[in-house]
Amino acid sequence: MAARLLFRTAVRASTTLRVTPVKTLARGMAAGGIPTDEEQATGLEKVLMHATKEGKDPYSMFRPKEYAGSKEDPHLVPSITNKRIVGCVCEEDNTAVVWFWLHQGEAQRCPSCGAHYKLVPHELPH
Ligand SMILES: [Zn+2]
Repeated sequence: MAARLLFRTAVRASTTLRVTPVKTLARGMAAGGIPTDEEQATGLEKVLMHATKEGKDPYSMFRPKEYAGSKEDPHLVPSITNKRIVGCVCEEDNTAVVWFWLHQGEAQRCPSCGAHYKLVPHELPH
């Protein structure tokens, strides 16, 4: 009984309903579209986006470059002062970090493994 009633209702609905096109909603942003992240960015975020496009890393957010650690290719350590504390994980599986002061000037060696580190001046973007 219920199935018959449901079937009649479906047949009636399919024969009497007319398909009408659905109007698209007019949105306020329709004229210009949705602004991109670059168009919306302001302040520091905008500065970072421009610097990233130019390949710069003003806040040292990217992974540091890898150096051989030899005398000819020392690890470059940026610093805003003339010295900085450096931690060296001498071997890949070491659980201890060897900490030492790195001073401006010639490249220095890690007291444990002998890897070379050199302090390079770094200026903050503002
Ligand atoms: Zn070391």
